Amino acid sequence: MRILLFGSPGVGKGTQAKILSSKLNIPHISTGDILRQAIKDKTKLDKKTQETMNAGELIPDDIMIEIIKDTFFRRGCRNGFILDGFPRTTVQAEELEKLIEELALSNVVVVAITAPEDEIIKRLANRLTCKVCKSIFSKDELENVTVCPKCGAENSFYIRKDDSEEVIKNRINVFNENTKPVLDFYKGKREVIFINGNDSVEKVNEKILEELKMYSVNNN
Ligand code: ADP
Ligand code: ZN
Repeated sequence: MRILLFGSPGVGKGTQAKILSSKLNIPHISTGDILRQAIKDKTKLDKKTQETMNAGELIPDDIMIEIIKDTFFRRGCRNGFILDGFPRTTVQAEELEKLIEELALSNVVVVAITAPEDEIIKRLANRLTCKVCKSIFSKDELENVTVCPKCGAENSFYIRKDDSEEVIKNRINVFNENTKPVLDFYKGKREVIFINGNDSVEKVNEKILEELKMYSVNNN
């Protein structure tokens, strides 16, 4: 199964991708995580990438396409993957289609998670991330907690620079302008499964797995 996880920032893509990755036993490819790691490792994608991300703007398409190609070839993506954060523009979507064709990948499905904008803003402003395992939590669930419930790291929580109020607004604008059209690109080209993300993590996950099961039954 190859899942292209689509949705606005804060809709729960990262959280769901991690659960699906472990349940379905396929790699989770998060372009956001790859970029943040590259910045930490001080690769050539250093300062400018960091500034762009901190402002909530998009990294140029050519850089992102290189990253995806590199990741596809390096990581064991032959048996499936969950792509989280890519494609974010129609140019990226077109390039991904070429890559899918080149590698003759089958069973590609788009899972689009949706939620109302006010809910999304609330979640992003309330988000803490573990810098060790990259798990995502809300400030409420970590009140008086100092050890990461997922990986056991101590004092590893931080607020992403792009989770500030100003930048959140910009990220949503960027999503509406540049990323939303990607869904139109896929209409008629690929199966798109819509999931209401305005529910508990467990419920949303259940719904995704149910839909994926139906997709598998109908496509095998
Ligand atoms: P979120 O989905 O919560 O916005 P991500 O961790 O997926 O967070 O992405 C963080 C930032 O990384 C984006 O705001 C953008 O600057 C950059 N980024 C990630 N993926 C892409 C992409 N495919 N194209 C351009 N920029 C990207
Ligand atoms: Zn952790």
